[in-house]
Amino acid sequence: MRILVAEDDPRLLLQLSDALQAAGYAVDLADKGPDAEHLGLHSRPDAVVLDLGLPGRDGLSVLRRWRENGLDVPVIILTARGSWQDKVHGMDAGADDYLAKPFQMEELLARVRALLRRASGKAHPLITVGTVELDTRSCTVQADGRPVDLTPHEYRLLSALMHHAGSVLSRSELAEHLYEHDSDRDSNTIDVFIARLRRKLPEGFVTTVRGLGFRVGDAH
Ligand code: CA
Repeated sequence: MRILVAEDDPRLLLQLSDALQAAGYAVDLADKGPDAEHLGLHSRPDAVVLDLGLPGRDGLSVLRRWRENGLDVPVIILTARGSWQDKVHGMDAGADDYLAKPFQMEELLARVRALLRRASGKAHPLITVGTVELDTRSCTVQADGRPVDLTPHEYRLLSALMHHAGSVLSRSELAEHLYEHDSDRDSNTIDVFIARLRRKLPEGFVTTVRGLGFRVGDAH
């Protein structure tokens, strides 16, 4: 899970970063409004901690622009103590929660966990095809009730196939799920990853459809 933290107080930014990293999140940091806006739109965070008083562009404007651009990531705003106006404006601009400064780090972590839970509840967190179960929250896979140890690439490939169970995915479609936007997409390596997946999953789980690609589950 990836958290974006936008805060211009360097000490607080460091505390937030340390606490969130210790809690197991990948953390992106911004100390100016425009940087926060850019990172929110491009680093695909799972949740955002957003200070309202940011230099360059205030947090409310950043939040409004995210929502206008269709970014529906859960956002906790950090407000000045006692400023109910900040809270109202923040919630109106699309914030999901708020915390008044100063706050206890434990409370912030609990609120982040709650937001992430709610956000993942919207999607189907568990995908089951045959005897294989893929948990999109923990990025783990079980086959026949036993955990399957996958590399990140293998997981992404299997996740793509299971999200489209019953449909054939071509090598180039799978490559799009596998690689970052700018890296080389060599669709030949797909066969290598498919072979590795097959060794780790029940026999016959991944079907080759000649000339077209690969499929899991019964054909539609
Ligand atoms: Ca501030």
